[in-house]
Amino acid sequence: MNAVLRLVDATAAAIRLPVAGLAADSDTAFPGRRAAVVFLQGCPLACNYCDSGPMAEARRASPGEWEAIHTFLEARRGEIDAVVFSGGEPTLHPELVAAADACRELGLAVGLHTAGPYPERLERLLPRLDWVALDTKGRGRDFDRIAGRERVWQHHVRSLGLLLDGDTPYECRTTVHWRDFDLESLERLALTLADCGVRRYAIQLARTAQCRHPDYRQAVPDAPSRESVEVLVRRLKPYFESLELRG
Ligand code: SF4
Repeated sequence: MNAVLRLVDATAAAIRLPVAGLAADSDTAFPGRRAAVVFLQGCPLACNYCDSGPMAEARRASPGEWEAIHTFLEARRGEIDAVVFSGGEPTLHPELVAAADACRELGLAVGLHTAGPYPERLERLLPRLDWVALDTKGRGRDFDRIAGRERVWQHHVRSLGLLLDGDTPYECRTTVHWRDFDLESLERLALTLADCGVRRYAIQLARTAQCRHPDYRQAVPDAPSRESVEVLVRRLKPYFESLELRG
């Protein structure tokens, strides 16, 4: 092994990240790329609709977890051209910066899925990122209510500001559970984001079967019909370059 490879391997061994899972090949996690998705464990938020299960619970990283992922990514170069860090909340882990650098050294583009609770960490990461999906859970106090934590909205707004002011491609996305939203509040959120300058937005209908909170697994009696959601999305489309309804 030459000196450069030994140095890269030593760096990978020094990075401690709790890995909850790996999707080897995704063509949806990073638009236009074939990406491996690395799910990092732990999340500071507590959304009732969360279907991440144990992935949202924090734990310390064991030695070798990132090293194994790095070895996998190194072997898959050519078959994939990107890696996406997802979770949980991947920016919970300061060593994500070093892992992103390691991916770039492998020639892979780097994407991030985040709810933006740590704007300072996002700011450090942004020069290393090629794409970001920012999970905007709601507007103002609605964000905090849906995320189950107080004052996260202010942090999220600073993260959104970094994306609005920067040149890293991004989309905002909102997971909609009809216990958290009605059509009017969803429209207000979408128009607020459009007013801020967000150009790419996705509305994702929550999967209810595995929601963390038992009430969220039940059907919502007064949930809007699919047709009325599609009507809203058509009305909102002119405000965005891209607006997708998912789920
Ligand atoms: S849905 Fe909410 S609680 Fe679950 S991982 Fe995502 S941000 Fe965390």
